[in-house]
Amino acid sequence: MPVARALPGYLEWQLTACAGVESASGISECQQEWKALRILLSQQELEEGVGTLARRIQQCYGDSPLTIVGVLTGSIVLLADVIRQLEMPLRVGVVQASSYQGTQRGVLTINADLMPDIRGRDVLLVDDILDSGHTLARVVALTRELGPRSVRSAVLLRKTGRQQTDLEPEFICFDIPDEFVVGYGLDYRDAYRNLSYVAALEPEDLAGAGA
Ligand code: 5GP
Ligand code: MG
Repeated sequence: MPVARALPGYLEWQLTACAGVESASGISECQQEWKALRILLSQQELEEGVGTLARRIQQCYGDSPLTIVGVLTGSIVLLADVIRQLEMPLRVGVVQASSYQGTQRGVLTINADLMPDIRGRDVLLVDDILDSGHTLARVVALTRELGPRSVRSAVLLRKTGRQQTDLEPEFICFDIPDEFVVGYGLDYRDAYRNLSYVAALEPEDLAGAGA
């Protein structure tokens, strides 16, 4: 469980990093250590921001049927929270996009096997964060090829001054500074997705973890 520290705005979280340590039984064990996480967005701020996002989506589409497609894996928490606040007839799908290794961008791969049939439908893509914009731009382009009636996109976070594409998501919850963030679905090496807040990892935490 996270424990409040003396410093305001900080929480400690027990990082469980499965680093491939072999036990005597041969089963991989997890190393645990304590990290101080600087909170950028509290649970309450996220609830308010996601509530506002849901209202804007509802206003945009009204009662029309909507297919909402989450970009795995970082969008899962936002997707779960936002769909429960929408009242139109809703279908949910997912598409997988992965490009990060630690904090570095690698080769972008997209797997659309789990995308539902979207021909003639209004589609809203939901992603965790817009950084360079390359991932979402590629997913939007791929989605358009599948013949939907419309494609819009929504992101929880947009990093200031980092975008390298023309893609402007129609819905943006929060603008944040250029820092590596975790929590509320976002990971660092598969850890931290389950935090109920968004926190920035300090450069020394990233370097210390071998980024
Ligand atoms: P982009 O293609 O826009 O540069 O990167 C988008 C993807 O990179 C996001 O969907 C997310 O998975 C990952 N990403 C970018 N910035 C961050 C960050 O600060 N923290 C985490 N955890 N992932 C990030
Ligand atoms: Mg992502």
